[in-house]
Parts: sequence; C-alpha cells; structure tokens
Amino acid sequence: MSHQIWMNGDLVNHEDAKVSVLTHALHYGTSVFEGVRAYETPDGGSAVFRHADHIDRLYRSAALYHMEIPFTKDEIRQATFDTITASGLKSCYIRPLVFRGAGPMGLYPLDCPVEVIIAVWAWGAYLGDEGKVNGVRAKVSSWRRISSDALIPTAKAGGQYLNSILAKIEADKAGYEEAILLDSNGYVNEGTGENLFLVKDGVVHTPGFANDILEGINRAAAIEILRDQGYEVVERNIARGELYRADEIFMTGTAAELTPIREVDDLPVGDGTRGPITTEIQAIFEDALHGRSERYAHWLDKVPAAVS
Ligand code: PMP
Repeated sequence: MSHQIWMNGDLVNHEDAKVSVLTHALHYGTSVFEGVRAYETPDGGSAVFRHADHIDRLYRSAALYHMEIPFTKDEIRQATFDTITASGLKSCYIRPLVFRGAGPMGLYPLDCPVEVIIAVWAWGAYLGDEGKVNGVRAKVSSWRRISSDALIPTAKAGGQYLNSILAKIEADKAGYEEAILLDSNGYVNEGTGENLFLVKDGVVHTPGFANDILEGINRAAAIEILRDQGYEVVERNIARGELYRADEIFMTGTAAELTPIREVDDLPVGDGTRGPITTEIQAIFEDALHGRSERYAHWLDKVPAAVS
C-alpha cells in the first residue's frame, strides 16, 4: 500500500498523507466513503466501473451528514484518474474518503474542516476467487442491520460500519466467511458489505429499500442484467426461513463482486454448488466489469491514457 494518496487536492507519498490524532472522524466516525473498482480492459487500458454512480452516492452520503465536499464531482473524478495513473495499477480498488478533520472537539461537527483523500490499492475479490466459483458459507448474524430510526442506512458513513464490523467478527469467530444481517423487523437485509439475492423457482427476490438496505451499485447492475436476461426480479420482504429453501443465493458488492452463497447456517443452498442462474449472471457481470461487454460498455469510465 505504498501508492501515492490524493489528499485535499494534491498527490502525496503515502507516508506524508498524515492527519492529527484529534481528527474528528477518528473519535466519532464522522466520515463518508466509497468503495470503487477499476479494471484492466482488453485494449490494455483501465476503466472505472460505474464511476459516476459512486461519486453521486459519495456526495449524497456527505449531504446526509451535513458535510460539504470542498471539490466538485468533476474534480473528484479527475483526482481518481490521477491517483490510479500515479499508482501504475490497471486493476485496483479505489477508496475515496471524506472526513471531518481536526477542529473543535465534541459532538457538534460543523466547525471541523471537511477533508478528502483518495487511495488505491490492488485488492482481489473480498470473499476470495475460490468463493466466487464455489460459493461461501454464511451465518445469519445475531446483530440486526442499523435501521433508519437511529441512523441512515442509505448513507455509506464510517461510524455506521461498526454494525457490519460486529457482524463480521461474529461470523468469522464462528467459522463462516460472511454474515447475513436481518433488518430491525426480522426480514433478510444484506451481508456486511454486500446486497443479497435469492432465487426460488426461477424468480429472483431481493430486499427493497424499506428493508433499510444500502443502495448497492452492483445490486442495480445485477438487477438490470437479470431483467435483460428475462428474469423476474421482485423487491420485497424476505423471511429468514426463505434462506433455507432457496434454490440459489448470491451477493453483490464492489469488494465481493458477485459471489454465490453455498451454505446458510450449515444448511446447503440448493445442492450446495453455484446454481445456474448465479453462474449465468455472474459471467455477464464479470464481462461488464472487465470491459468485455458491448451491451454494458456505458458502465465503464475509461481512465485517460497517461501523457508522457
Ligand atoms: N451493503 C453494504 C453495507 C455495503 O458496504 C456495500 C458496499 N458498498 C454494499 C451493500 C454493496 O454496495 P455496492 O454494490 O455499491 O458496492
């Protein structure tokens, strides 16, 4: 992780990208962020997947926490390109982070400066390449997903992730690769960093916004691909018990990409292998990510070639 970091307008060496220990976000979680990916394309270049959607969500998350980002969306887009180019990486994970810096302590944050960094690094599939083929084992968490009567589930805010972190630690200690959180009403919600889809009798079901999900960008992509392939996709309340009688379950997220779930709570999903609809959609999704799809080429934002 020694690549240069874009920090408040400049590219700086990793070791020079420093903040005060009195940074407000360190104490109270007052940050918003994105997880974005760029992939090498068949022409040898690189492209950012659904870049504008990620930037829009970053600004929405910031606005929900009353943070004014001191750069335009175009500047953030260009800064992302500059950071990728400086890294020399063709495929990378991209982390824009907007946070409240050092200023007056206490819970009133609006007098603390809003700072922005963008970091990139090489990062394989979050739940493993093997998991993308064979599926991962998941456990329904004892932790419920944050609800909109206490926080803002549609915002991607730092402090909110303590919820995902508790669920992730619990799942890991119990020997599972991922947790599935229920919402505050007991309906299926999502993974710690992924949205969830369930296939039953050829129809695809996924929790909707009333379930307090994060509005996943890969979720939207998967829904579009599924519908383009002729599948019915229903957004609705899903009972925990439906996880145990599903034919297929898969998750989507920038970090995990599209990963099948092969077991929930020690029970096999379907026959315990990646199912046919998951396999079909995953292949199209992978082609879209990697610039091999004409149909979804508009989802890619090409990194301009470096001028030498
Ligand atoms: N849910 C949560 C809690 C997440 O952190 C993420 C990752 N951003 C997702 C779902 C999936 O969202 P996306 O497809 O936009 O990466």
